[in-house]
Amino acid sequence: MPAEVNRSKCMICGGCVSVCPVQALELRENVLYVDTKKCIDCGNCEKVCPAGAIKVVKK
Ligand code: SF4
Ligand code: SF4
Repeated sequence: MPAEVNRSKCMICGGCVSVCPVQALELRENVLYVDTKKCIDCGNCEKVCPAGAIKVVKK
């Protein structure tokens, strides 16, 4: 399962976007989008998120 964003917690800081190795995360008009087809479940975004807003859901 790919990363999932809790949009009510996300502060739009962009930290996760810069650590994603496959560019699966994109900030557009103040909303964070996850390209679930690109996500490789690496967990980088979850580790750097200061708000606990993004989680990789384990299979
Ligand atoms: S788990 Fe890894 S590949 Fe998936 S969105 Fe987060 S940083 Fe990108
Ligand atoms: S690191 Fe967390 S708070 Fe920052 S944009 Fe990503 S999900 Fe939102």
